[in-house]
Order: sequence, then C-alpha cells, then structure tokens
Amino acid sequence: MQYFDKVEFADRSEIEQIQSIRLKNTVYQATASQFYRNKLAMAGIKVGDIKTHNDASKLPYTVKEDLRSSYPYGLLTQPVDKMVRLHASSGTTGAATVIFHTENDLNSWADLVARCMHMSGVRSRDVFQNMSGYGLFTGGLGIHYGAERLGCLTIPAGAGNSKRQIKMLSDFKVSVAHIIPSYALHLSSVFTKLDIDPKSLHLKIMLIGAEPHSEEVRQRIEDIYGVKAYNSYGLSEMNGPGVAFECSEQSGMHIWEDAYLAEIVDPETLEPVPEGELGELVLTTLCREGMPIIRYRTRDLTRFIPGECSCGRQHKRIDRISARSDDMIVLKGVNIFPMQVEKILMSIPEVGENYVIELERQGYLDQMRVKVEIRDEFFVEDMRSLQALQKKITGQLREEILITAKVDLVERDSLPKNDGKAVRVIDNR
Ligand code: AMP
Ligand code: ZN
Repeated sequence: MQYFDKVEFADRSEIEQIQSIRLKNTVYQATASQFYRNKLAMAGIKVGDIKTHNDASKLPYTVKEDLRSSYPYGLLTQPVDKMVRLHASSGTTGAATVIFHTENDLNSWADLVARCMHMSGVRSRDVFQNMSGYGLFTGGLGIHYGAERLGCLTIPAGAGNSKRQIKMLSDFKVSVAHIIPSYALHLSSVFTKLDIDPKSLHLKIMLIGAEPHSEEVRQRIEDIYGVKAYNSYGLSEMNGPGVAFECSEQSGMHIWEDAYLAEIVDPETLEPVPEGELGELVLTTLCREGMPIIRYRTRDLTRFIPGECSCGRQHKRIDRISARSDDMIVLKGVNIFPMQVEKILMSIPEVGENYVIELERQGYLDQMRVKVEIRDEFFVEDMRSLQALQKKITGQLREEILITAKVDLVERDSLPKNDGKAVRVIDNR
C-alpha cells in the first residue's frame, strides 16, 4: 500500500499514543493564551489533569462566539511577530472568525493536505487546477500548498471565469481539479454552451468539498466529468481543508486523528452519542502551536462510521455532513434540512444543476417555494409534460419532508450563480 507518510497507516494504539502526547502538549501550549488561561482556570482544569486522550472530556468546549469575543489576538499563544499568515471563515452571519498560523503550523497543514490528496490517488506527475477562491478562504492557499508539497504542477486558477477555467483544463491537460460541488455543476452548463464534452478532457480526479452536498450530487459530477470525485471536509477553525478526506473506497472520510482529536456529541446535552449515531462533531487541534483550539463545536452533524475501512487505514471515518445544527428549517412546525430537498431533486433526471429554496410568509402561513432549473431537453416539451414533472417533484418532496412545497420549474441559467459556496436557502419570512 502506498502512503504519503507512515502515520497514515498507524494502528489504533499508536494513534492513541500520539493523541495522548499531543493533547497534553496542546493544553500546555493553550495556557499561553489569555483566553485559555481564563477558560481552563474557570473550569478548574490544570495542565497536569490531562494525562491521556481520554481526558479530553474533562476540558471545556470552545464555540464560535469565543473566537469572536477574543478577536483579533486573544487566542494567540505567541507574539504576533511569530505568526506568518491568517485566514478567516466564510460565514455570512456575524463577524468573521480569524485564525493565525506560525510557519510550523503552515508546514503541518500542507503535509495534511498532501496526505489527503495522495490518499485519493493524486501523484506528483499530476497537473492540478485549484478552482477555489483564493484570499481569506482556506480552500485556495490551503489546498494550493498541499498540492505543491505533493509535487504537482499547481495552477492557482481561483474561482469563477468559467471559460478561462475550461481553457486551462484543456490547454494544460489538467488531470486533477479541486472545485466546490455547486460550481462543478454550474461549470458543466458552460461546457454544454461551448459544445465541449467534459469527458474529452484529461480529468480523472475531482476533489469536491467545502459545502454540504449529497451522494446524488457526487454521482452527477462523476458522470458529467467522467472522474472519481472525493469528498473533502474542513473548516477554517481547524486550518481548513485537510481535516477529513475520502480514500479510494469512497465510504466515509478519514479524520486525521494524529492532528485532530474528534468527538461526536449530542448538541443538546453535549454528552457523547453512542458509536455510529448522528451528533455534532467536536474537534481539538493536536498540532497547532500558534492558535490551538480545544473541543471546538463545529455545528456540523455527522456520525462515526463503525468498523474498519477496507483500505487498511485505522483513522476513524465520518459520514458526509448531513446538516449543520444551525441550518435546520422549521416550517409549519416541521424540521427540514436543505440536504433532504437536494437529495430528492438530484435524483430526478429532468432536474438541472441549480436550485434554490425560498421561504415566504403569506398571511399567517409559512410556505416553501422550490425553484428548480430544468434541463434544456425537457424544457422544450409541451405544457402537459411540464405539469406532470412539477407534480412528480412536488410529490417526491412531500414524501421526504412532509410539506407541500410550491415548485417552480425554471430554465437553465435563470437562477443566481455563486463562485463560492452556494446559497441554497433564502428566508424571506
Ligand atoms: P469555512 O471555515 O468558513 O470555510 O466553513 C467551514 C464549514 O463548511 C464547515 O463547518 C462545514 O459546515 C462546511 N463544509 C466544509 N467542507 C464540507 C464538506 N465536505 N461537506 C459538507 N460541509 C462542508
Ligand atoms: Zn479508507
């Protein structure tokens, strides 16, 4: 088995040994920051109380609000002049949360991303195009340095400018691309307009992530581009990409447990959920020196996949993120996750690449309107078949979410596009 570094194939006892050493070290380092000195003192925890990885449960949680309230430098463990870069979260609500890195931090981050890419089959001979936005968003530089660490010829294409993206993919015979899934779907309609078959390029692997997407979307991307698409999970608070990634088995994402201590807890009680059950992912950085974060509540809902992966790696796997504990829609008293709507839409062949969910209030009644782009070949059909399609979508949605949504069929390219993470829900209530 080819590996990027040895730790990738460490067994459970080795992984746990590393975790114990690094957790102790992390807690020790964290106390150099004003924020954690106070937080640990308030929780009555001393560095000496942390002896093994199991002691993580004694530590207090960190939430996004903590990062905001100690903005900008309150979590640093070293003077600002030791920091060499900062990134920020792409959140649309509230102030951005900012993360700082030392040179060592950037180095270990690049190693982790390189390990992820290597695991999915990327090699130094590959030509790699990064179609993620650069700048504060971690999917740009984070993935970029990982690809260079692996030795790939790396094209920092950035987001948007679809025609130029396609030209570069073709001119440089790009074999691997990193792309946000909603943009991959949008880009396919530009291929259609240009009358180029995406399969005629040299692409063989696409790394997709940064936003929630369903298995149905992955399959569409694989079919359209003729590639294997691997799910990539990360968040800026934990560096960004490189936290968890799919191996060639595509059955869950391995969390690199030498670098992150992962727990899954009930978001209400904050108690650990039984193995295999859905809960909120909580992560602790184990090799970040400039700004370690302890027991960060990600708000991302997932589960540990029980059992061992057939690839032989023993780092635990998480399931694709099914929702965030804060993006649930409550409509007429029913709890709905946007991902449920996507799963249904993307399994219907007539449905095109883009959709949006709008919530509106009519009088005292809340209503969900789902605007769905329809593929060209179906849009030209007669009124009756369009009505039948509308009925089919409404019916399948009702079965899944128990709500009768108003379904608008719209033409390709009529819904707003976004180069970054897709905005799927607009709440006008
Ligand atoms: P940011 O740090 O602003 O880039 O956003 C991180 C958030 O993006 C995570 O907490 C997740 O909610 C979401 N995210 C990142 N990667 C994935 C993925 N592969 N699947 C689902 N959601 C993701
Ligand atoms: Zn595996």
